[in-house]
Amino acid sequence: MTQKQNVIVSETKSEVVAQNKPLGGGYISISRKNILKKLEINGGRVNGWIENMRASSPTHPSLSQDQTSWNVHHPSALDMFDQIMESSKGKQIVMFLDYDGTLSPIVEDPDRAFMSNSMRKTVRKLARCFPTAIVTGRCKDKVYNFVRLAELYYAGSHGLDIKGPTRSSKYNKDRKGETLHFQPASQFLPMIDELYQRLVDKTKSVPGAMVENNKFCVSVHFRCVDEKKWSELAHQVKSVLKDYPKLRLTQGRKVLEIRPTIKWDKGKALEFLLESLGLAHCNDVFPVYIGDDQNDEDAFKQKLRDRGQGFGILVSKFPKETSAYYSLQEPKEVMDFLQRLVEWKEVSLSAHSRV
Ligand SMILES: [Mg+2]
Repeated sequence: MTQKQNVIVSETKSEVVAQNKPLGGGYISISRKNILKKLEINGGRVNGWIENMRASSPTHPSLSQDQTSWNVHHPSALDMFDQIMESSKGKQIVMFLDYDGTLSPIVEDPDRAFMSNSMRKTVRKLARCFPTAIVTGRCKDKVYNFVRLAELYYAGSHGLDIKGPTRSSKYNKDRKGETLHFQPASQFLPMIDELYQRLVDKTKSVPGAMVENNKFCVSVHFRCVDEKKWSELAHQVKSVLKDYPKLRLTQGRKVLEIRPTIKWDKGKALEFLLESLGLAHCNDVFPVYIGDDQNDEDAFKQKLRDRGQGFGILVSKFPKETSAYYSLQEPKEVMDFLQRLVEWKEVSLSAHSRV
């Protein structure tokens, strides 16, 4: 299978590709015994889930992490802009953007996490300069309704639902009318729908609990739940999840997320998208991934830090454990950084045309 054939796949072909384990993907071959063992470990970890949720959504500087030393290790991407651009010299920049907390502010109602018009305009300009993808835990269609830019790549459900640009751009000219479409876990859809319904019923008794069906994953939001009730809600999630050994749980910013136990995450999605652009095995590619949450670490670490290609930028006001090299404090700073990238590209193009 050629590299190109590997990535331009229809929905029906995607299962075959997944079984062929592209890019190390496919199913985790662990026995049921091991899955149950893993669940037992998880089973005793309701407090651990809650601690992790708190750690990924700090509201004040942590005592264990000094803000100044954290800033030294993860300097502002705006302050380091010139150095970053210097290291990207001669390389193809590819942009990967998380949505919630990165392009849009974190809000209490996940259905109202709108991005500003000025952010949309900036991302539109960015996509004219560099291939640009949105990589999110959200359902792809829902995030598309927020972003509404047909020229972008979208990787929804933590990369389990990938779609290429529907509007032609200079980066997907050779598609011959085909749209990149990849769903490595489509057979999990009925199970996810059933789980969603069971979680909705189970969590009704906890005021403020919200369950969101993100197509290939289910999110249980704690944001509007009184912290005293977090443990009760987490126990409810655990009691439903025990019936689904093929699903696994991860924690994010005031959210528990449940998704299929396949080796696929935002890092794999990043790698897949680079491959679809024909850049996976290039030395002159420079991926930039901006995200604010625990699940973005898969991309920061796997591709960017371990392979020494490009870099990750964590969006956070407070120190957090991260594999990202740089930081930005909030979506407004993300917009400023993207705007500077656009201006840098325009200046370098006009300098090039004068030569
Ligand atoms: Mg986020």
